[in-house]
Amino acid sequence: MAIILIVEDEANIAAGLQFNLELEGHQVEIATDGLVAKRLLIEEARSYDLVILDLMLPHVSGFELCRAIRRKSNTMPILMLTAKREDPDKVYGLRVGADDYVTKPFNLEELLARIDAILRRKGWSTPAPAQHDVMSFGEVFIDFDTFQATVGGAEVKLTPIEFGLLRAFRDNEGLVMSRDQLLEAVWGWQNPASTRTVDNFILRLRRTLEPVPSAPKHILSIRGAGYKFVR
Ligand code: CA
Repeated sequence: MAIILIVEDEANIAAGLQFNLELEGHQVEIATDGLVAKRLLIEEARSYDLVILDLMLPHVSGFELCRAIRRKSNTMPILMLTAKREDPDKVYGLRVGADDYVTKPFNLEELLARIDAILRRKGWSTPAPAQHDVMSFGEVFIDFDTFQATVGGAEVKLTPIEFGLLRAFRDNEGLVMSRDQLLEAVWGWQNPASTRTVDNFILRLRRTLEPVPSAPKHILSIRGAGYKFVR
Protein backbone atom coordinates (compact mmCIF):
# COMPACT_ATOMS: atom_id res chain seq x y z
CA MET A 1 0.00 0.00 0.00
CA ALA A 2 1.31 3.41 -0.96
CA ILE A 3 0.36 6.92 0.12
CA ILE A 4 -0.26 8.92 -3.02
CA LEU A 5 -0.91 12.62 -3.54
CA ILE A 6 -2.89 13.60 -6.62
CA VAL A 7 -2.40 17.24 -7.60
CA GLU A 8 -5.10 17.88 -10.17
CA ASP A 9 -7.61 20.69 -10.61
CA GLU A 10 -10.00 18.72 -12.83
CA ALA A 11 -12.24 17.15 -10.20
CA ASN A 12 -13.48 14.26 -12.34
CA ILE A 13 -9.96 13.17 -13.26
CA ALA A 14 -8.82 13.40 -9.64
CA ALA A 15 -11.85 11.48 -8.37
CA GLY A 16 -11.51 8.78 -11.04
CA LEU A 17 -7.86 8.26 -10.21
CA GLN A 18 -8.55 8.24 -6.50
CA PHE A 19 -11.29 5.62 -6.93
CA ASN A 20 -9.06 3.30 -8.93
CA LEU A 21 -5.99 3.72 -6.74
CA GLU A 22 -8.02 3.08 -3.60
CA LEU A 23 -9.42 -0.06 -5.25
CA GLU A 24 -5.80 -1.24 -5.48
CA GLY A 25 -5.39 -0.61 -1.77
CA HIS A 26 -3.57 2.70 -1.85
CA GLN A 27 -4.26 5.69 0.36
CA VAL A 28 -4.98 8.80 -1.69
CA GLU A 29 -5.02 12.51 -0.96
CA ILE A 30 -6.06 15.18 -3.45
CA ALA A 31 -4.84 18.74 -3.84
CA THR A 32 -7.04 20.73 -6.20
CA ASP A 33 -4.63 23.56 -6.92
CA GLY A 34 -0.97 24.47 -6.79
CA LEU A 35 -1.16 26.40 -3.55
CA VAL A 36 -2.71 23.53 -1.62
CA ALA A 37 -0.09 21.18 -3.05
CA LYS A 38 2.71 23.58 -2.15
CA ARG A 39 1.45 23.83 1.41
CA LEU A 40 1.35 20.04 1.83
CA LEU A 41 4.62 19.29 0.08
CA ILE A 42 6.82 22.24 0.92
CA GLU A 43 5.53 24.03 4.00
CA GLU A 44 4.34 20.94 5.86
CA ALA A 45 7.04 18.82 4.17
CA ARG A 46 4.76 15.79 3.98
CA SER A 47 6.20 12.69 2.42
CA TYR A 48 4.39 10.59 -0.19
CA ASP A 49 5.28 7.40 -1.98
CA LEU A 50 4.19 9.07 -5.19
CA VAL A 51 3.04 12.49 -6.34
CA ILE A 52 0.83 12.56 -9.44
CA LEU A 53 1.27 16.09 -10.65
CA ASP A 54 -0.85 17.86 -13.23
CA LEU A 55 1.14 20.39 -15.24
CA MET A 56 -1.49 23.09 -15.74
CA LEU A 57 -2.72 24.15 -12.30
CA PRO A 58 -4.22 27.26 -10.75
CA HIS A 59 -1.78 29.49 -8.81
CA VAL A 60 1.39 27.39 -8.97
CA SER A 61 2.33 25.38 -12.08
CA GLY A 62 3.29 21.72 -12.03
CA PHE A 63 6.78 22.62 -13.25
CA GLU A 64 7.28 25.01 -10.37
CA LEU A 65 5.98 22.46 -7.87
CA CYS A 66 8.24 19.83 -9.33
CA ARG A 67 11.28 22.05 -8.93
CA ALA A 68 10.23 22.96 -5.39
CA ILE A 69 9.80 19.29 -4.47
CA ARG A 70 13.20 18.42 -5.92
CA ARG A 71 14.87 21.15 -3.91
CA LYS A 72 13.56 19.39 -0.80
CA SER A 73 13.67 15.77 -1.84
CA ASN A 74 15.47 13.91 -4.58
CA THR A 75 13.69 10.67 -3.86
CA MET A 76 9.95 11.38 -3.83
CA PRO A 77 8.67 9.91 -7.11
CA ILE A 78 6.80 12.34 -9.36
CA LEU A 79 4.56 11.33 -12.25
CA MET A 80 3.62 14.34 -14.35
CA LEU A 81 0.30 14.60 -16.12
CA THR A 82 0.37 16.89 -19.10
CA ALA A 83 -2.38 17.87 -21.49
CA LYS A 84 0.23 19.18 -23.85
CA ARG A 85 1.55 16.88 -26.49
CA GLU A 86 4.55 18.96 -27.41
CA ASP A 87 7.82 17.19 -26.78
CA PRO A 88 9.66 20.22 -25.33
CA ASP A 89 7.21 20.27 -22.44
CA LYS A 90 7.73 16.61 -21.72
CA VAL A 91 11.48 16.86 -21.88
CA TYR A 92 11.37 19.93 -19.68
CA GLY A 93 9.17 18.08 -17.19
CA LEU A 94 11.77 15.34 -16.94
CA ARG A 95 14.57 17.88 -16.66
CA VAL A 96 12.98 19.61 -13.68
CA GLY A 97 12.85 16.25 -11.96
CA ALA A 98 9.73 14.27 -12.89
CA ASP A 99 10.33 10.51 -12.99
CA ASP A 100 7.76 9.87 -15.68
CA TYR A 101 4.94 11.61 -17.48
CA VAL A 102 1.64 10.69 -19.04
CA THR A 103 -0.20 12.76 -21.61
CA LYS A 104 -3.88 13.51 -21.06
CA PRO A 105 -6.30 12.15 -22.05
CA PHE A 106 -4.65 9.00 -20.74
CA ASN A 107 -5.51 5.35 -20.89
CA LEU A 108 -6.36 4.39 -17.30
CA GLU A 109 -4.84 0.90 -17.55
CA GLU A 110 -1.59 2.32 -18.85
CA LEU A 111 -1.46 4.99 -16.18
CA LEU A 112 -2.07 2.44 -13.40
CA ALA A 113 0.65 0.22 -14.86
CA ARG A 114 3.11 3.09 -14.87
CA ILE A 115 2.20 3.98 -11.29
CA ASP A 116 2.84 0.34 -10.32
CA ALA A 117 6.20 0.45 -12.06
CA ILE A 118 7.25 3.61 -10.24
CA LEU A 119 6.18 2.22 -6.87
CA ARG A 120 8.00 -1.06 -7.53
CA ARG A 121 11.13 0.77 -8.59
CA LYS A 122 11.04 2.78 -5.40
CA GLY A 123 10.88 -0.47 -3.46
CA TRP A 124 14.27 -1.77 -4.49
CA SER A 125 16.26 1.24 -5.53
CA THR A 126 16.22 4.98 -5.43
CA PRO A 127 16.46 6.52 -8.89
CA ALA A 128 19.53 8.65 -9.45
CA PRO A 129 18.53 12.20 -8.63
CA ALA A 130 18.54 14.74 -11.43
CA GLN A 131 21.18 17.10 -10.13
CA HIS A 132 20.85 20.57 -11.53
CA ASP A 133 23.40 23.30 -11.40
CA VAL A 134 21.54 25.66 -9.10
CA MET A 135 21.99 28.55 -6.71
CA SER A 136 19.68 29.95 -4.06
CA PHE A 137 19.80 32.83 -1.66
CA GLY A 138 17.05 34.75 0.13
CA GLU A 139 13.95 34.46 -2.03
CA VAL A 140 16.02 33.85 -5.16
CA PHE A 141 16.36 30.54 -6.95
CA ILE A 142 18.54 30.16 -10.04
CA ASP A 143 18.76 27.09 -12.29
CA PHE A 144 21.76 27.38 -14.59
CA ASP A 145 20.75 24.29 -16.57
CA THR A 146 17.34 25.58 -17.58
CA PHE A 147 18.26 29.30 -17.44
CA GLN A 148 15.41 29.97 -15.08
CA ALA A 149 15.31 32.41 -12.24
CA THR A 150 12.59 33.03 -9.67
CA VAL A 151 12.20 35.55 -6.87
CA GLY A 152 9.69 34.48 -4.25
CA GLY A 153 8.41 31.86 -6.69
CA ALA A 154 7.78 34.41 -9.47
CA GLU A 155 9.80 34.02 -12.63
CA VAL A 156 12.17 36.81 -13.58
CA LYS A 157 14.07 37.25 -16.83
CA LEU A 158 17.85 37.32 -16.75
CA THR A 159 20.32 37.65 -19.61
CA PRO A 160 23.12 35.11 -20.24
CA ILE A 161 25.64 37.65 -18.89
CA GLU A 162 23.60 37.99 -15.70
CA PHE A 163 23.48 34.20 -15.30
CA GLY A 164 27.24 34.20 -15.84
CA LEU A 165 27.78 36.79 -13.14
CA LEU A 166 25.64 34.85 -10.70
CA ARG A 167 27.54 31.67 -11.42
CA ALA A 168 30.84 33.47 -10.83
CA PHE A 169 29.49 34.78 -7.53
CA ARG A 170 28.18 31.36 -6.53
CA ASP A 171 31.55 29.76 -7.26
CA ASN A 172 33.37 32.41 -5.22
CA GLU A 173 30.92 32.84 -2.39
CA GLY A 174 32.26 35.02 0.40
CA LEU A 175 35.31 36.10 -1.61
CA VAL A 176 35.98 39.57 -2.93
CA MET A 177 36.10 39.56 -6.73
CA SER A 178 37.65 42.49 -8.55
CA ARG A 179 35.95 43.92 -11.61
CA ASP A 180 38.77 42.49 -13.74
CA GLN A 181 38.23 39.02 -12.28
CA LEU A 182 34.52 39.27 -13.04
CA LEU A 183 35.27 40.49 -16.57
CA GLU A 184 37.56 37.54 -17.15
CA ALA A 185 35.14 35.03 -15.64
CA VAL A 186 32.02 36.25 -17.42
CA TRP A 187 32.99 38.13 -20.56
CA GLY A 188 36.29 36.41 -21.23
CA TRP A 189 39.32 37.97 -22.88
CA GLN A 190 37.80 37.65 -26.34
CA ASN A 191 35.00 40.08 -25.59
CA PRO A 192 36.58 42.98 -23.78
CA ALA A 193 34.11 45.06 -21.80
CA SER A 194 34.85 47.96 -19.52
CA THR A 195 34.79 47.77 -15.74
CA ARG A 196 31.91 50.25 -15.97
CA THR A 197 29.94 47.52 -17.77
CA VAL A 198 30.42 45.26 -14.76
CA ASP A 199 29.00 47.97 -12.50
CA ASN A 200 25.97 48.41 -14.75
CA PHE A 201 25.20 44.70 -14.74
CA ILE A 202 25.57 44.55 -10.96
CA LEU A 203 23.09 47.40 -10.60
CA ARG A 204 20.62 45.54 -12.83
CA LEU A 205 21.06 42.30 -10.92
CA ARG A 206 20.40 44.08 -7.64
CA ARG A 207 17.28 45.71 -9.05
CA THR A 208 16.00 42.31 -10.14
CA LEU A 209 17.05 40.13 -7.20
CA GLU A 210 17.63 42.20 -4.09
CA PRO A 211 14.65 43.05 -1.83
CA VAL A 212 16.08 46.56 -1.34
CA PRO A 213 18.39 47.24 -4.31
CA SER A 214 19.88 50.37 -2.68
CA ALA A 215 20.82 48.37 0.42
CA PRO A 216 21.95 45.02 -1.01
CA LYS A 217 22.27 42.04 1.31
CA HIS A 218 23.76 39.54 -1.10
CA ILE A 219 25.67 41.30 -3.86
CA LEU A 220 27.90 43.62 -1.86
CA SER A 221 30.21 46.40 -3.00
CA ILE A 222 33.63 46.28 -1.41
CA ARG A 223 35.05 49.74 -1.66
CA GLY A 224 38.20 49.96 -3.77
CA ALA A 225 38.25 46.19 -4.35
CA GLY A 226 35.18 44.95 -6.22
CA TYR A 227 32.20 42.84 -5.25
CA LYS A 228 31.45 40.04 -2.87
CA PHE A 229 28.52 37.64 -2.84
CA VAL A 230 27.11 36.32 0.41
CA ARG A 231 24.08 34.11 0.84
CA1 CA B 1 -5.12 21.12 -14.99
